[in-house]
Amino acid sequence: MFTPVPAPASRRPDTQRLPRTVLLIEDDTSIGTLVCTYLERDGFEVVWLKTGEEALLELARQKIELLVLDIGLPGIDGFEVCRRVRARSQVPILMLTARDEELDRINGFELGADDYVLKPFSPRELVARVQAILRRGRQAEYEDVLQLGDVELRRSERTALAGGREVELTSKEFDLLAALIEHSGHVLSRERLLDEVWGLTYPGDTRTVDVHIAQLRRKLGLRDLISTVRGAGYKAVRP
Ligand code: CA
Repeated sequence: MFTPVPAPASRRPDTQRLPRTVLLIEDDTSIGTLVCTYLERDGFEVVWLKTGEEALLELARQKIELLVLDIGLPGIDGFEVCRRVRARSQVPILMLTARDEELDRINGFELGADDYVLKPFSPRELVARVQAILRRGRQAEYEDVLQLGDVELRRSERTALAGGREVELTSKEFDLLAALIEHSGHVLSRERLLDEVWGLTYPGDTRTVDVHIAQLRRKLGLRDLISTVRGAGYKAVRP
């Protein structure tokens, strides 16, 4: 579990993706600044707080994708934060530790941390570990059946049902709808959808997306549940 993780391969800038929010709890200004810089460069939104008490309040306020948690904090320490977070949430936790004795406690206790990095650490390694934890989480959360209104996509069978009746979709229509449902409530740009469904090397233009959306709406009666957001893209609307 704690093996080194290679840095992510270079790819297109992440601007099309939805920001994922990382909550950083670190009282040291220089370390916090460094971690923020690197995570933001990698496309994360970072909420940086300096105490565990503030962090627990923030967790109740907004959806956090991952916690980067220092152990030595003013007020309650990182172990206690970890324990209290685990009492109510499975949000992934990456701990920052400065000393061997802390490391022993992370390894020896049932804290529920997902990983740790030992200070001093390279910020690139920290970002790679954050990415690795999130990848593992996404695999665990992979849902075979996606639903939007009375439409159901069964991914392992690659079948689509509307009102319980099977509807034939092309492979791209299927993937496009799956992408929209996975991000229900969020607007996805045409460029992002092209990337996700057709791949980075697809030479076509964004009208391809419009044509496929029109087909999906027609075939599945999703006129109201896939909304067009002017100048921005498309959104699956939870009924
Ligand atoms: Ca500290």
